[in-house]
Amino acid sequence: MGKYMYRAGIDLGGTNIKAGIVDENNQILKQASVPTRVERPYGEIIKDMAKLVLCLLDELSISKEELVGVGIGSPGTVDAETGYIAYSNNFGWENVPLVPEMKKYLDCPIRVSNDANCAALGEVKAGAAKETANAVLLTLGTGIGGGVVIDGKIFEGAHAGGAELGHTSLIMGGEPCTCGRKGCVEAYASATALIRDAKRAAGKNPQSKMNALCGGNLENMNGKIPFDAAWDGDDIAKQVVDNYITYLGEAITNFVNIFRPDVVLLSGGVCNQKEHLTDPLNAYIKNTCFAKEKAMIPPVCCAILGNSAGIIGAANLI
Ligand SMILES: [Zn+2]
Repeated sequence: MGKYMYRAGIDLGGTNIKAGIVDENNQILKQASVPTRVERPYGEIIKDMAKLVLCLLDELSISKEELVGVGIGSPGTVDAETGYIAYSNNFGWENVPLVPEMKKYLDCPIRVSNDANCAALGEVKAGAAKETANAVLLTLGTGIGGGVVIDGKIFEGAHAGGAELGHTSLIMGGEPCTCGRKGCVEAYASATALIRDAKRAAGKNPQSKMNALCGGNLENMNGKIPFDAAWDGDDIAKQVVDNYITYLGEAITNFVNIFRPDVVLLSGGVCNQKEHLTDPLNAYIKNTCFAKEKAMIPPVCCAILGNSAGIIGAANLI
């Protein structure tokens, strides 16, 4: 291959390590993944990450010299400065020297950032926020991840732990959060919170169609059922969905008032609801963001790159 700028992006997940070689147009030329098996010593996981990159280079006939750098999106509290993972509860990691360990295998610049940060940067470079420079991304899953891109760069803060948007307070003294605090955005607007609220409402209201959609067992509740039942005219489900959108709308309003991004992106399974989710959110924040229509109200959209966002974003750390 010719003299191009090839970067590697690695998305380190709890289930799989995904890596891709990304060209100067932010296209993934080739990607591959291997199981993470988080129970292993971190040295083995990091060795596999490096091997995956070397393997991809080999398959693409790109020499190591043509690789200008490797970016890594990692879960947990990331110190971008030192390349250490300060803390990851899912991996059981504390002070893991991710970048120094990778340098044993790859002699090029290596950078790391939080996985939600990388997803946000990926969407700005090649996805739903392309052509913009300022974006806020919320990943609505088991928890809520947050990524903030300012002037085309990830906002890291001065030390590890920046941009945990899910752990900002929404309801003082409210529902317990995984972080030990009460009333965080994550405790109201994550998929886990939606499922909890749907279960509670269905449990109290046997006539709700959500019960039938669960096959009579509330343990089968998922984030789709309240939306399905609401669209089928179920008032109880409609209330659950309306509350969820209000929580999310309030949280988004807070982030718009702080960052005033060009766009607010949402990702995660709840985004399968597409405009059923984003239309009411866009309507909601028009009336709640500071200065209302006198200021610029950013659109709320669903992210479009899916799993590729992490790889492309990580590559753009270089
Ligand atoms: Zn929290």
